[in-house]
Amino acid sequence: MRKPEPRWYALYLGDYPRCPRCGTYRLTKLAARDKIDPMNKGPLNFAQYMWGADLYHCRYCRVQFYDVRKPVAPEAKEKAAAASAVTAAPAGGEPA
Ligand SMILES: [Zn+2]
Repeated sequence: MRKPEPRWYALYLGDYPRCPRCGTYRLTKLAARDKIDPMNKGPLNFAQYMWGADLYHCRYCRVQFYDVRKPVAPEAKEKAAAASAVTAAPAGGEPA
């Protein structure tokens, strides 16, 4: 059986955001759209933008794109840490 060729949409099927051009996971999350570097064009990119996706930037390709997936999920980590801290803390009410 032949191994299927990698398709463009394979980049959208993983667990983490990847650069649509070079496929790297080493991305920078942008708070705002960069005015210099180009935005990745495509209906899927636009769809993810409409979906409220985060903006990522590939430093190698200097391209920006939207992806709904979370690379490291720092918020989830913080929540987990806070939850464990609450669990570990003695139940004694608020400090005076
Ligand atoms: Zn890239």
